[in-house]
Amino acid sequence: MAEKKDRMPVIFVGHGSPMNGIEDNEFSRAWEKVGRELPRPRAILSISAHWETDGPMATAMERPKTIHDFYGFPHELYAQQYPAPGSPELAREVAHLVQARPDNGWGLDHGTWAVLKRMFPEAEVPVVQLSLDRQATFGQQHTLAQKLAPLREKGVLVLGSGNIVHNLMMADPSAEAYDWANAFDEKVKGLILKGDHRALIHYERLGEAARLSIPTNEHYLPMLYILALKQKDDSVRFFGEGIALASVSMRSFVLS
Ligand code: ZN
Repeated sequence: MAEKKDRMPVIFVGHGSPMNGIEDNEFSRAWEKVGRELPRPRAILSISAHWETDGPMATAMERPKTIHDFYGFPHELYAQQYPAPGSPELAREVAHLVQARPDNGWGLDHGTWAVLKRMFPEAEVPVVQLSLDRQATFGQQHTLAQKLAPLREKGVLVLGSGNIVHNLMMADPSAEAYDWANAFDEKVKGLILKGDHRALIHYERLGEAARLSIPTNEHYLPMLYILALKQKDDSVRFFGEGIALASVSMRSFVLS
């Protein structure tokens, strides 16, 4: 691995509600701040909770469309576009590294564009999405993600977008955070700082708070892709911490 200064950071963002793409709040402001601090990437590879396929796929089109993959939100949100170009070149590199098939039907889902709209509002950096492989175990996906490491030395920013705690069935905008949500969020923070990826991969062994925090695993998984890219001399910086809707952890972090 190259020296730290020649290596792009990697980033995980707890994206929460799609409204964070247009609303001014503590989370969207934190994303904007980090966007200003990050080095300018050649391209972005985004791994979003909202795209799962059988076997990994990478978006290979020149002009990925903005996907409005949510229901019941204000018209303004459906009118949003994120016109970043694609990068068939990066899609080929990703295909080579992790045997991802090229995709020409997806685009940029809200896990990607709602975050990037705040971090890179000019939408001039090319973006490719890599899907979550629903046929692979968490351990297998962690191993697959490690193979993306050379991209960090080629100016590519790898972004994971999901949520560490994500239980929409129990979401309550007028309630305080549930104890189990706080507890699991803190537990994961501690394991990230310890570098205990094995415990994070086998989260089902972490008890009741884990079970409530991860009723379905697609929002948790992008974090494991990002942790898989951690090098020995990377340090962790958390941002955007907090529990939204009582049951969604917005904890985000940069490894650099
Ligand atoms: Zn989501």
